[in-house]
Amino acid sequence: MTARVALKVDCDTLEGTREGVPRLLDLLEARGIRATFYFTLGPDRSGVAIRRIFTRPGFLTKMIRSRAPSLYGWRTMLYGTVLPAPRIGARTEEILRGAGRAGHETGVHGWDHVGWHDGLDRMSLEAIAREYGAAHAEYLRILGVPARSSAAPGWTANARSLEVQEERALLHTSDTRGGSPFFPRAGGRTFRTLEVPTTLPTLDETLAWPELSGDAAQRAFFRQAVHGTEVHTIHAEVEGRSKSALFSAILDDWAADGVAFLTLSEIARETLGRRERVPARELSRTRLPGRGGEVTTGWPETEPAPA
Ligand SMILES: [Zn+2]
Repeated sequence: MTARVALKVDCDTLEGTREGVPRLLDLLEARGIRATFYFTLGPDRSGVAIRRIFTRPGFLTKMIRSRAPSLYGWRTMLYGTVLPAPRIGARTEEILRGAGRAGHETGVHGWDHVGWHDGLDRMSLEAIAREYGAAHAEYLRILGVPARSSAAPGWTANARSLEVQEERALLHTSDTRGGSPFFPRAGGRTFRTLEVPTTLPTLDETLAWPELSGDAAQRAFFRQAVHGTEVHTIHAEVEGRSKSALFSAILDDWAADGVAFLTLSEIARETLGRRERVPARELSRTRLPGRGGEVTTGWPETEPAPA
């Protein structure tokens, strides 16, 4: 089986979008790679995530191990708390358009990343529709065309968010972790928007794995991790900033091994070409090594195995 990787670039913060996206565009262009970018369009309230240090013991471990302030930038750690929350889309319009002009796919990550990640399960259908609609409206205003796909912040989805997403003519979503593409089932309903999961662990997770200390161990892990077609999520605020050299090395290792790169919509179109063989899978939540909190999955038995 050909080894293939689709790069899914989540842009969560203002600094990540403003500084990380241009750097990622440069290093992808240098390697002739097309990726799929998902933009957070509304307020950057990343500083509110600091609250998790005090409320979630597991997250504290992650924050310390991955040295979040150096990973994300100190300013980002204060947005929405002592600094006002800036609107990401409105401050980065040219950068978002630049990603499209460079030939990459783009889509909606969300409006308020922190609010969705922390609060989705407490949000009503109407509140989710407002939040999701605001993100799509801002995307349309800036990019000039409707988004054809979206990726839920923090891989947090439920029956209500799928119902809201189903109202749009999306080619696919990418809301979950693990396994092959499927049609999600939740709340007694099977949805017809194809879900294309992230299959590999993310660098911000593996950096917290004690057995992978140092760049050489990280590179060796990602080099052996590609089997068949993988979706690899990176973060503009991490791989586009403090970890761009390590990410470049990972890309070069994959290229040296003959890994081909494709986009999420290419995976979606391939999969929909054999629609009758695509399974329906019930959504559930799971925990992943190196990540605080839970993520949504359609394949709960799929455990990324730390080396
Ligand atoms: Zn995100």
